[in-house]
Amino acid sequence: SVMAERSYDFLMPSVNFFGPGVIEKIGDRAKMLGMKKPVIVTDKFLEGLKDGAVQQTLASLDKAGVDYVVYNNVEPNPKIRNIKEVKKLYEESGADSIITVGGGSAHDTGKGAGIILTNGDDITKLAGIETLDKALPPLIAVNTTAGTGSELTRHAVITNEETHLKFVVVSWRNIPLVSFNDPTLMLDVPAGLTAATGMDAFVQSIEPYVSVDHNPITDSQCIEAIKLIETSLREAVANGHNLEARTKMVEAEMLAGMAFNNANLGYVHAMAHQLGGQYDAPHGVCCALLLPYVEEYNIVADPERFAELAKIMGENTDGLSTRDAAELSIKAMKQMSQDVGIPKSIKEIGAKPEDFELMAENALKDGNAFSNPRKGTKEDIIKIFQAAYDAK
Ligand code: NAD
Repeated sequence: SVMAERSYDFLMPSVNFFGPGVIEKIGDRAKMLGMKKPVIVTDKFLEGLKDGAVQQTLASLDKAGVDYVVYNNVEPNPKIRNIKEVKKLYEESGADSIITVGGGSAHDTGKGAGIILTNGDDITKLAGIETLDKALPPLIAVNTTAGTGSELTRHAVITNEETHLKFVVVSWRNIPLVSFNDPTLMLDVPAGLTAATGMDAFVQSIEPYVSVDHNPITDSQCIEAIKLIETSLREAVANGHNLEARTKMVEAEMLAGMAFNNANLGYVHAMAHQLGGQYDAPHGVCCALLLPYVEEYNIVADPERFAELAKIMGENTDGLSTRDAAELSIKAMKQMSQDVGIPKSIKEIGAKPEDFELMAENALKDGNAFSNPRKGTKEDIIKIFQAAYDAK
């Protein structure tokens, strides 16, 4: 394939702790960063987990003599009210920094609070790409799902609870200073959540691979992420205590996070945000339900790349035409979803055809739509929603 001359800024956090047991280092690292009183941003379930991510984080901070306050009200698909509550607690308690502990929802709540602490109160005005003038307070992200990649990325995904619109603030200023990915904190993630978050990582390694913004660095990350997911997601869903499978899924979600941080995503995410905002459904499930229908639509934009994708996913493409080989990538996506127990149709998360028109309009305005390889109309997007609805 032809590659244009290109220049880019490649973004990721400066320090990323990875592996079993790394969580013990968070206290010293917080101290090293000059944190005197971070707000811990998490939810009640994670806070209550005996010897879980929150308790281990707090124990390490105690040991290092770092004070903290806890915000334990993160909601899935975090809302504007959540980031306002964190801001209020931050100001009232005299905090100076933020540590997020959880999955994408915790990290995005921490980022969203950081955004309104320094860039002005109305976050809806900051939706879009590189909209932030001021640095956020120092931010460490402790990740407990594999995963969204939010602990590494410049994206903050927030839902406006009044309009049901889920929007993205994309800025290099959102990238946490330090990330922690300790797979021992993920051993007890239930099968359904492992599947949903793993499918998010899968989509996040496919969309940047076919994105108009892909480059050789992100390609290599996507290819390795897909291979790791192909050989570990089913195992991690089947037996959560398989540390090898959990470790590979963390490596995969980190690679995918780095890839989409730089090569961006596409219509799967742009459309999944509409489903998430409208029906408050789990993000990974929304992504998985849309993936084969968006990519089927995308194939004509770059059949060779989809044929390569099929091979990376382990399909045998010997002797096939490029187009037939490309179709095998769609088959592999559907097989993965089925194997990990994702439902078949967006009907099952409450989607209604009468909402498709508005959701299609908003999807085309989403910050992730611009890098999709095929440029669609509103009618195209409605048809994709319909195909994902009719799926049996
Ligand atoms: P989540 O953060 O919403 O968590 C889902 C549930 O899992 C919560 O109830 C939580 O308590 C529980 N949980 C988390 N870790 C656990 C653990 N170790 N053991 C047991 N339970 C655990 O789920 P998520 O999929 O990680 O995040 C989804 C959100 O992230 C969505 O809002 C999505 O839009 C966003 N997202 C952000 C980015 C980004 O780059 N900023 C990328 C993709 C998705």
